[in-house]
This record gives sequence, C-alpha cells and structure tokens, in this order.
Amino acid sequence: MVAETKLYDTLGVSPDATPAQLKKAYRKMALKYHPDKNHEPGAAEKFKDITSAYQVLSDDRKREIYDQVGEEGLKGNGGMGDMGGMDGSDIFSQFFGFGGGRQSQGPKKGKDIRHTVSCTLEQLYKGRTAKLALNKTVICKACNGKGGKNVKKCATCNGTGMEFVTRQMGPMIQRFQTTCDVCHGEGDIMNEKDRCGKCHGKKVIEERKILEVHINPGMKAGEKIVFHGESDQYPDTIAGDVIIVVDEKPDKTFTRKGDDLYYEAKIDLLTALAGGQIGFKHLNGDFLKLELVPGEVIAPESVRVLEGKGMPIEKMGDYGNLFVKFTVKFPPNHFASEQQLKNLEKILPARPKLQIPKGAEVDDSCQLVDYDPVKHSGRKSRAGNGYYEEDDEAGGQPNVQCSQQ
Ligand SMILES: [Zn+2]
Ligand SMILES: [Zn+2]
Repeated sequence: MVAETKLYDTLGVSPDATPAQLKKAYRKMALKYHPDKNHEPGAAEKFKDITSAYQVLSDDRKREIYDQVGEEGLKGNGGMGDMGGMDGSDIFSQFFGFGGGRQSQGPKKGKDIRHTVSCTLEQLYKGRTAKLALNKTVICKACNGKGGKNVKKCATCNGTGMEFVTRQMGPMIQRFQTTCDVCHGEGDIMNEKDRCGKCHGKKVIEERKILEVHINPGMKAGEKIVFHGESDQYPDTIAGDVIIVVDEKPDKTFTRKGDDLYYEAKIDLLTALAGGQIGFKHLNGDFLKLELVPGEVIAPESVRVLEGKGMPIEKMGDYGNLFVKFTVKFPPNHFASEQQLKNLEKILPARPKLQIPKGAEVDDSCQLVDYDPVKHSGRKSRAGNGYYEEDDEAGGQPNVQCSQQ
C-alpha cells in the first residue's frame, strides 16, 4: 500500500512500477506534452507536472518518502515544487540527452589524484625535477576500451550493471538495487571468444607512468602543479587531473617567510662591540662573509638585512631579502681580573644613576640567586588558607635535591 497515488497517476503507471517502467512512461508523456511540440492550452502545465512527478519517483529516497507519507512528506525536502533551480526542460534534456547545453550534461569527470612532493629549502631555492611513478588505470588500447569484439550494451540494466528490484512485503513496497543477472554487473554482453585478451573485458588496464615534476626555484609550500587529464581513465569519463602539492621541509639554518629568509647569527661580545667577520653557508652553496665594522655596536636581538639574498621570487628573476638576527654570547663569569674591569670602566659608557629617590624606604636585604627551573617554576603558589597546594611539595628544598640527582 502506498499513501497516495497522484504522482503515479500523473505518469499513468501503477505504484509498483519498476524504474524502467517509470522511465518509459515519462519518456512517452514528456514527448507528448513538451512545450516545443505541443501548443495546446494546458500542455505546458501538464509537462511540468509529469516532469515533477518523474523527478520524485525516479529518486529512490524521494519515492520511498512519497510512498510512505505522500506529497506532504516531500515539502522542504528537495521534493515537490522544489526543482533545485532546474526547470522541467532541464530534466527533459538531461533525460533525452539533447538541448539545454548545461555543462553537467557532458561526460562526467573522473577523480583527481593528489600527491605531495616534499622539498628541502635548498631544493626550493635551486629548483629541481622530481620523478613521480604513478600506477594508473588507462583505457585498454587493444580493444579501444570496448572490452572485446561485438560488444552489446545489456538491455536489462541499460549498461549500468545494476538492476532495481521491486518487491511487495506485506503493506510495504520495497525497492532495492542488485547486480544485473543478465550481464553479471558488467553492463555489456559479448561472446566469451570475443572478449579482449589484454584487459579480459574490463576495458581498462593498469599502467605505470613516470611524471616529471618541475619544481621552479622559489616555489612555496602549498603551491600546486597540475597535470591535466593524467588521472585514471575510464570509458565515458573525462580523466581527472594529477595534482602535485609542494611541501617544504624545515631547514636547520634558515627560516622562510614568503620570499624572505631569516638567519640567526651567534656572535661573541668582542665582535658585537669591536667588529669582526662572520661567515655562514647560504642555500645556494656559497659562503656569505659579513664584515662587522668596528665601532658599529651589534646589540643582542638586533636585526640587519642582506637585500636580495633571500629566496628567488618564482619566474621574476628577483630575490627576497635575508634577515640576520644577532644573538650575542657574553663571556663567562670572572672572565677578567679586577684591574681589567677597572679598565673596562674607563672604556664603556658610565653606569646610570641609581633609580631610588632620596629619602625613600629601602629594603637592602635583597639577594640575587641563580634561576632554578624546578625551584622557581611558576606553578608554586600559596593557597588562600595558608597551605601549599597539592603538587607544591615537589617545590620544597629536599625534593629539589632529589630530582636533581
Ligand atoms: Zn545487465
Ligand atoms: Zn581490452
């Protein structure tokens, strides 16, 4: 039992009609009432109704809802009166494969294949050619993708290899998809002796192909190199693309931001104050030699720029900048005698004045100790009631000694 039969009546079929019967009925009615052919009053309206009915009944999910609940169940469900932006003639031309001219009516496009090519920063600087071995499905050339000689499309399943079976189960009509038993799911029928010896009737074969991926100097992570139509081939399908995505491995020496490079130069205090030379290897293989002019003080964390020494800018023949950030290594404790330090006082700018106003309350019991990451971790805090918090015991002196052993 179905909830209502209006849509079936519109197409002039019974509620247990198979998809093939529905299709046949729609074809007959649509040709009769198509506005291009039938100019009688009401024909256009009738055409819209039958197309709308077919749209619901040819969709398994919608047909099930309609059978159980009726038109009410399809409201706001992409069903009746909601043609998803299509008018009847679109469905009509899709159905008969003419007219329209919408892109979606062409052969379907196959899946794209994505691959990542991992590159070092040096490879992205210099450019490289990566060879990618691809196992892909291609149309069998021996049979031109037909599977053999004298191949006929299976009439039972219309070449789909699948069949819809309708079965009455008590009050319900159940429909399910099953493999076509006439062609055994292949969609084609041929004599065994005509079967293609190379693809054994599968129409496609596996092939190994080497793609040469050209990484241009200056390419960036996430950039895509597209090989159009190099993905798997299937009959009646436009092959998808092979999309290569560039990935950049982190570099030990340089950090990249866009076209610029960042380098951290570690210098000693003497070089920072009195000048000197530093050298490091660039991505292009050359060693860069930098002259630090005596008298030009390099402060810790300060940054200088080597213009045009960054990454190549792809296809521009130009280069980004290389930023050099200095860290200054200070000498160890007690590196100089008291007398040498007195001499230092004569050279370096005088100490600033003590920043304590005259007459202020002064606590002079302060004592600086070395920082201990365990003892001085920020987790230690006193709870409001005066007790240490649970994990605070670890911060006590004896435990610190334990954890250091
Ligand atoms: Zn079949
Ligand atoms: Zn073949």
